Amino acid sequence: MDTLTTLPALKQARTVERLVTGQATSDGDGVRLTRVLTQNLQRRLDPFLMLDAFGSEVAADYIGGFPDHPHRGFETVTYMLEGRMRHRDSAGNEGLLTSGAVQWMTAGRGVIHSEMPEQEEGRMEGFQLWLNLPARDKMCPPWYRDIAPEQIPEAQAPGVRVRVIAGQALGVAGAMQREATAPTYLDLHLEPGADFAQPLPAAHNAFVYVYRGSLTLGGVDVPAQRMAILAQSASSDGIALRAGAQGARAILIAGQPLNEPIAQYGPFVMNTNAEIYQAVEDFRRGALA
Ligand code: MN
Repeated sequence: MDTLTTLPALKQARTVERLVTGQATSDGDGVRLTRVLTQNLQRRLDPFLMLDAFGSEVAADYIGGFPDHPHRGFETVTYMLEGRMRHRDSAGNEGLLTSGAVQWMTAGRGVIHSEMPEQEEGRMEGFQLWLNLPARDKMCPPWYRDIAPEQIPEAQAPGVRVRVIAGQALGVAGAMQREATAPTYLDLHLEPGADFAQPLPAAHNAFVYVYRGSLTLGGVDVPAQRMAILAQSASSDGIALRAGAQGARAILIAGQPLNEPIAQYGPFVMNTNAEIYQAVEDFRRGALA
């Protein structure tokens, strides 16, 4: 390619605060997954509320899918690495996510939707990230966008290919921008020993989840299936990492914290318990969506 870019120079890259191993669990109708960002990390990783990783070649692990269920008060970002998933919602929207596609859904005041595999065999792999909404937007009208694989911009540097889902990388603007939380969501494909660097505001909470190979970040080896939570420091200006001998694939996620109270009950994430009771009541009487 003739579009190779040199990496941005950083003065002080972030260090790793700690490595997290996700929790094996199941959700929906028996879908096996790993909850990488669990509820106890919501405050630390504000504005991110949850990250699930799923990946299996065994149909029984995913075939049940996620039948009709509600959401209110946040956004869900589903990134399919491999497989086919169909979603339908209470507003009549329907779409098919294929390998490499993203669905960005703003639940706002409420949706009821299903997310069901459209395959009976083969590999199903990907992530679902929950991104909080600021209090002023929690009751906004629901919205969604299916982003086809070819609509996700890519950036390149020597040994590095970046799919820029949100934010920007190497001067390439991502498929999505969000004002309040300014999320960065990058899928990094790194050849063995390749370097990557990403400037980031010091205030942003940030983490890297490695899903193939391994990498080194701030002098810490990060193996596959681990999330590295990056330390905050007022003088840091970004993230620098280097792929291990097998190369690496990883997602890098960062965002501006909202610093607002978080009240969660299952698929409802609001600011107060009263708003949660209201969400449950609205759902019960069929007025959520
Ligand atoms: Mn859902």
